[in-house]
Amino acid sequence: MSVSYWLDKTDGTAEYDIVIIGGGIAGHSLCYWFQKIMPKMKVALVEKGELGSGATGRNAGFVTCGSVEHFNRLVGTHGEKLALEMWQFSEENLKLLKEEVIKDPSSLSFEEKGSFSLASTDNEFIELKKSADLMRRLGIEVDMLEEKDIQNRLGAIGFVGGIKYVKDASIHPIKLLEELYRISSRKGVDFFSQTEVFSMEKSGDKRILKTNKGSFLCDAIVMATNGYSSLIHPFFKGKIEPTRGQILAVEPVDIFMEGPCYANFVLDYFRQLPTGELLIGGFRQLDKEKEQGFSDETNPTIQKALERFIEDHLPKLKDKRITHRWSGIMGFSQDGQPFIGSLPDDPQVYFLGGFTAHGLGLAFHGAKTLVDAMAGKEIPHWLSGRRV
Ligand SMILES: Cc1cc2nc3c(=O)[nH]c(=O)nc-3n(C[C@H](O)[C@H](O)[C@H](O)COP(=O)(O)OP(=O)(O)OC[C@H]3O[C@@H](n4cnc5c(N)ncnc54)[C@H](O)[C@@H]3O)c2cc1C
Repeated sequence: MSVSYWLDKTDGTAEYDIVIIGGGIAGHSLCYWFQKIMPKMKVALVEKGELGSGATGRNAGFVTCGSVEHFNRLVGTHGEKLALEMWQFSEENLKLLKEEVIKDPSSLSFEEKGSFSLASTDNEFIELKKSADLMRRLGIEVDMLEEKDIQNRLGAIGFVGGIKYVKDASIHPIKLLEELYRISSRKGVDFFSQTEVFSMEKSGDKRILKTNKGSFLCDAIVMATNGYSSLIHPFFKGKIEPTRGQILAVEPVDIFMEGPCYANFVLDYFRQLPTGELLIGGFRQLDKEKEQGFSDETNPTIQKALERFIEDHLPKLKDKRITHRWSGIMGFSQDGQPFIGSLPDDPQVYFLGGFTAHGLGLAFHGAKTLVDAMAGKEIPHWLSGRRV
């Protein structure tokens, strides 16, 4: 974005070693790892809204392994070895979150009930069975479900079968951010909300971030702006695409679901919160063109489809009241994997994003990978920002 004369408020300049842009799960995870791995660095995080204003405060709270597609397809694209590495990366994400951050699970509404992928067609069920065979052979714990099991354990109808990923989890995403914030701010990381970055400029060895609240002079910048990244730098055009996701929430009912579920090749999803409310999301495939871009409006076509999903699959929600409808902007990469690295035209500007609807399952480990890389470690090629 360019900066007008009127908006160029250079009256105040704050100095830091590192400034992170973006207060979602990626930005807050970066704060955590900077204070842990590089404790001497003076770090600030700037966020144009409030903590979690972006996708992180609008998601469904699934903390799942793997990626946007069934494991058999991941193997088909990348081969067994790399697909397993990708899966293990997100397993490690959950392990790190538990070891480092989730000390009191119930205070974060953190539950380890696994997650389910449900097939409404025989063809998808065949793929799920193939995935299960592959996963078991590679040592990943999964269970198979028949139609009856789905009705009994998940209260859902209209599905022919499914798979349970035994080790997956779910969380309250804002409570997770607040916990990360609490840890990092105690260790001296500074937070600036309502602070929008307009431009990043070079000044000799230093970098200047111009914002609506003044300038930040620093040695390194880390962009954790995910879906919004191409608004700040053109490198991300065609790499991290802003893609909208929609959810609705239904008033609380007695707990009837064993765990959170995906359906229809991971495109649609539903879960029951520990407090009884249901979240139902997905269906962006119905209006792909409109669901691109930076506006976080709700889309009536998709919201209608979410209501139809309740009628078709969730009889226990009949006549229950819809309490919330919302949308959020995600960052999608073409291969579904995140981007970690530094800009080709400026190695002092780093980035972490492109989680393709799986940031809770990837960003904490992703942030560690970036901070480790800044300390000299190599980034695996499949995560590298230079791979395409
Ligand atoms: C409806 C929906 C459901 C989802 N469900 C799940 C799920 O169940 N599980 C899961 O793992 N993932 C889910 N996701 C995806 C997940 O939310 C994202 O992958 C994750 O939140 C990305 O985190 P982030 O920190 O990279 O980006 P964000 O949370 O989007 O954070 C980026 C931040 O950068 C800020 N920013 C942007 N530009 C500027 C600027 N110029 N100056 C200052 N600040 C700026 C934004 O305000 C924003 O807060 C879902 C997403 C949506 C929208």
